[in-house]
Amino acid sequence: MIAATAALVALPLAAAAPWMQPADSPVAALFKRQNGPPNPASPDFATHYPPQGNPPNGTWIPQAWLDKLKSIQLPPNNPVATLNGCCSISYPGVNQGGMSPDVCSFTAGCHTPTDFFNAPNNTFVLTFDDGPGDASQTLYGFLQGNNISSHATHFMIGGNIVGSPTVAQQAFAQGGHIAVHTWSHHYTTSLSNEQVLGELGWTMQAIADLTGGRIPAYWRPPYGDVDNRVRTIAKGVFGLETVLWNRDTNDWKIGSDSAYTVDSVKGVLDGWLNGPRSPGILALEHEINNATVQVFMAEYPKFAAQNWAVSSVPDAYGLDWYQNAIGNTGDLFATLSVGGQVNTNLAVTAARPATSTSAAPSASGSGAGSSAGASGVSSAESSAKTGNAQNNKQSAASSVFVPGVGALVAAAAALLAFAF
Ligand SMILES: [Zn+2]
Repeated sequence: MIAATAALVALPLAAAAPWMQPADSPVAALFKRQNGPPNPASPDFATHYPPQGNPPNGTWIPQAWLDKLKSIQLPPNNPVATLNGCCSISYPGVNQGGMSPDVCSFTAGCHTPTDFFNAPNNTFVLTFDDGPGDASQTLYGFLQGNNISSHATHFMIGGNIVGSPTVAQQAFAQGGHIAVHTWSHHYTTSLSNEQVLGELGWTMQAIADLTGGRIPAYWRPPYGDVDNRVRTIAKGVFGLETVLWNRDTNDWKIGSDSAYTVDSVKGVLDGWLNGPRSPGILALEHEINNATVQVFMAEYPKFAAQNWAVSSVPDAYGLDWYQNAIGNTGDLFATLSVGGQVNTNLAVTAARPATSTSAAPSASGSGAGSSAGASGVSSAESSAKTGNAQNNKQSAASSVFVPGVGALVAAAAALLAFAF
């Protein structure tokens, strides 16, 4: 911890007393509606939300969100990234670019101790991104038929949710865990602060409207593109935890890249299921089309046969599903205030606390933007990722989780554990 202390001293802004959300500004208040939620069966349902496909902006950003943004402290040396062409991010003028400890871009290959990255041993954390879409109901039927609806986290796109609200509700009604995958699926590090507010906030609003007021607790950045600025907005304004992955199926490339087929991606999963179990697998999979769904449905029987524990994100780490509810049923918590510091300065400096099973540095040597071979994850990438401080969230959650108190309390306690 000496190194971490030195780093704190070297970063006076980050070393200042951790900011907290104003006590009178519960996150639930950010998603209040004067007249209740819109009716998903109404033909005008989508008109209550920003247009699909673009980052919400301008008058679509509620003043309360802007006020909350002003109340938090953003990292001083993490400018908005430049998006080069379709798929490349850069930070002109920033020494080390995305690998700067001030930035810690997962696209560049850096992740923080507060990111959900590795999974608990022997656990396959089941996630499906980009829904709801045309193939979603096929997937939901399969999950239900195998009694594993509640073992999956669906990172949904806000624009897709308001385009297919009853499909989103089906996932929820069956017991699926619903989380945020932004409104329009852009590289979030290239968006302005206000656009990030819109991307996260409106997706949360749509989910809350369709789930009886449940405030999402987790988000996954499209393309894994997140940095400290965006992390800070997600956590500081909206209380969202950032969920990444330590294994990428590349299932979304089926149909667009001849190197990837249903069979090749099935082969990738076969390799994982027969491979190391420590850390476990936090996978990137999609419900984007029939091909990606086919892969999972064909492979799932092997999960059970090989005794992998299949789990949603929060259940894998012993956390609540939503910021104001334990799960899809039961009461909402009456009040909720988002608190806790965003310790992004620990991105590449902190060792794990004594409760950790590893004291490895937290910065990964590879990330979402790394190229992967036909096997899905190159051996070098796999080694770098899985050799990292393992089971970040497992060790943190197991040491601090208090049933019924909630994910935020657990997360805040975990952060304090890091600090001390
Ligand atoms: Zn996505």
